[in-house]
Amino acid sequence: MHVPDTPLSFPSRPDDLITARPEGLYCPPGDFYIDPWRPVDRAVITHAHSDHARTGHGHYLAHQDSRGTLQTRLGEIALQTVGYGEGIVHNGVRISLHPAGHVLGSAQVRLEHAGRVWVASGDYKTEPDGTNTPFEPVPCDTFITESTFGLPIYRWPTQEQLFRDIDAWWRANAEAGRASVLLCYAFGKAQRILHGVDASIGPIVVHGAVEPLNAVYRAAGVALPPTLRVTDPGVTPALLKRALVLAPPSAQGTPWMRRFGNYSDAFASGWMQLRGTRRRRNVDRGFVMSDHADWPGLQKAVAGTGAERVFVTHGSVAVMVRWLTENGLEAQGFKTEYGDEDVADAPAPTEQTPPQGPE
Ligand SMILES: [Zn+2]
Ligand SMILES: [Zn+2]
Repeated sequence: MHVPDTPLSFPSRPDDLITARPEGLYCPPGDFYIDPWRPVDRAVITHAHSDHARTGHGHYLAHQDSRGTLQTRLGEIALQTVGYGEGIVHNGVRISLHPAGHVLGSAQVRLEHAGRVWVASGDYKTEPDGTNTPFEPVPCDTFITESTFGLPIYRWPTQEQLFRDIDAWWRANAEAGRASVLLCYAFGKAQRILHGVDASIGPIVVHGAVEPLNAVYRAAGVALPPTLRVTDPGVTPALLKRALVLAPPSAQGTPWMRRFGNYSDAFASGWMQLRGTRRRRNVDRGFVMSDHADWPGLQKAVAGTGAERVFVTHGSVAVMVRWLTENGLEAQGFKTEYGDEDVADAPAPTEQTPPQGPE
């Protein structure tokens, strides 16, 4: 398969609303950045994952549902928040945030200035999952999209199928008297699993890294079943044999896991769709689950904006740019320092076909 060279930064035009700077995505007329990776005075933050929300900025603007997660991760910051669709004007640029369907408070950033409209998507997912406001396409001239899973092989199971599979695995383990340890990211995935599983199967125990984020989701009105910590009274070895245990991937192989005895383990990630990932993670089961759009979702999202010009930030940049170009759009890659909460699980580039774009 031939993959054309991808320009890593695009030649900016004098009237571009967003350009590349070493600090991050920059809006020249507004004099602010979007998800900058180096400290700046003013930052608009799409969501609280660590590669998009960093410490050290002078002022932060984010969605109101990101307040709790940003403060959990960054401590006290100078933060202004807005609701979805609520516009504010800064240096003549109208800024508004729109649902991205990725994690609680995640937003696309819409900029309007002198008759032009640009939208920077941040990370997004097109299928609703019940734990955050569903993605909405925002009409624009120019769209900046992620492409974490921008290869045709990535097609997610429906929510319904995913939770049927997770529930069946948990139920079978509970009947056999062993704990079900599901490794997943503490912010976003863990709450989505809690919201989606059948809590009547047994008790649910969470790692200490997960519970503070559960509290933020509950405070935002997201329905989550009761959760226990291993230190809670009443959490006995007998109870653990029927439990679903949610822990971050970093807990794998640590002494914290010993209390679960002869448990079954699983990993929830979009990368589980790739052959070999489950074996490499050394777990019994892999569940294909992502906070990002799959290949059909990315295509639907781009088409939904009506944009004529598209920039691709992270993930399978070259493949996505080629697809967009073949479909008559003006498309280019855009070098950023965004990774992803899932990138730690991503296979080495040599294991992937076709090759990945830069990250
Ligand atoms: Zn993210
Ligand atoms: Zn990201």
